[in-house]
Amino acid sequence: MSGEATPTRPPPWIAGNLMIDEARLAELHAHALECYPSECCGFVSGPVSDAAELSVAVREVNEADKYHKLDPITFPRTSQMYFKINELRAARAFEQGDKAGQPIKVIYHSHCDAGAYFSKEDAATFASDNTLMWPCAFIVVSVMQGRVADTKLWVHVPGTNDFLESKLNVR
Ligand SMILES: [Zn+2]
Repeated sequence: MSGEATPTRPPPWIAGNLMIDEARLAELHAHALECYPSECCGFVSGPVSDAAELSVAVREVNEADKYHKLDPITFPRTSQMYFKINELRAARAFEQGDKAGQPIKVIYHSHCDAGAYFSKEDAATFASDNTLMWPCAFIVVSVMQGRVADTKLWVHVPGTNDFLESKLNVR
């Protein structure tokens, strides 16, 4: 034993180029439409054995309104402009997914009457000090006037606080 820590290699799905079937994508879209004109959020996990595959969507609660109600000065934005995922629940979900061989590969959220771009807010939420905060990629669903207009996959650019669009293959 050398006593050196095993370096943790980043999981391959954070680089994007992921695969989702139509039914799963439809679940994300349905969630986005149900929450409109608020932003929805959630996770998509997939088997560790098939890095690109996204197979299970899990809805999470957007806590933006809860925080806004409690403290509108610190949290001036409501769920129409913003989403806030519960970080403790997220950390647990990531840990459980890893243990079960069904890691979370994507955090998704929606934009209401805005494009499926990765906003400055989004980048600041998910990268800090040139480091990705969660070991996953990101799906943004754009809902325009109550209809799904676009869906895009975004990935972190290593060593920066930036994100780039990647390919989401729909089967
Ligand atoms: Zn966003």
